[in-house]
Amino acid sequence: MGGAGAAGGAGRLRADAGDAGGAGPGGRLRVLRDELVGCRACPRLVAWREKVSREKRAAFRDDDYWGRPVPGFGDPGASVMVVGLAPAAHGANRTGRMFTGDRAGDWLYRAMHKAGFANQALSRDRADGLALTGAYVTAGVRCAPPGNRPTTRERDRCAPFLHREIDILWDRLHTFVALGGFAYTVVLKTLAARGMEIPRPRPRFAHGVEVDLGAVAVLASYHPSQQNTFTGTLTEPMFDRVWQRAAERMATVATKEGS
Ligand code: SF4
Repeated sequence: MGGAGAAGGAGRLRADAGDAGGAGPGGRLRVLRDELVGCRACPRLVAWREKVSREKRAAFRDDDYWGRPVPGFGDPGASVMVVGLAPAAHGANRTGRMFTGDRAGDWLYRAMHKAGFANQALSRDRADGLALTGAYVTAGVRCAPPGNRPTTRERDRCAPFLHREIDILWDRLHTFVALGGFAYTVVLKTLAARGMEIPRPRPRFAHGVEVDLGAVAVLASYHPSQQNTFTGTLTEPMFDRVWQRAAERMATVATKEGS
């Protein structure tokens, strides 16, 4: 465990303590979750997520697919927000938890475990005991899209959910880890909409890019998709370096709440 564990643990205690009546971050995230899982605003994505859930992949034919929008997952006192693209058809769309039940999730939680943000590397299903400290994992779009390609309209329609998560966690948030170019764009757009000044020209997405916006920083990483990890575009040391940087920030950056 690195510095992430200690700092995030304190944050979680404070968040939970302020949540007795459900008005703290944990309670507000639960309200948002209940609203999110009933969303049917994007007809194309609703049809696709449900079709995949009915037809299933042969290897998972006995599984009861989630088949709904996937809520964010993690510590209500998080300082690091991880943003992916969207649930994978047979990963999060099956298990109902972000980056759970597929190879991308194996990569993500292994790296987060090594950096001190996760209690284990295993991410198999919602009952596997995985818990995050100091980190919260979410995505720009909450329903599995065909070909992993949401449209711009679908992205924009789903954006309010991310805005609300950021609102809820804002006092302690200081770092975003954007997994892939889509998430990088979503994070910068969302922060710009919150009134933050994004440098112009906007720094181009590349693995390892860090955009310091003062109150928060955005760390860009290639997405740990099989397409990237099988081809060596993203290697384990490359991914670990991003997580080491996030852990360094956990150890050295004061939260807005504490400043
Ligand atoms: S992608 Fe977002 S806005 Fe569209 S149906 Fe799913 S949860 Fe609702």
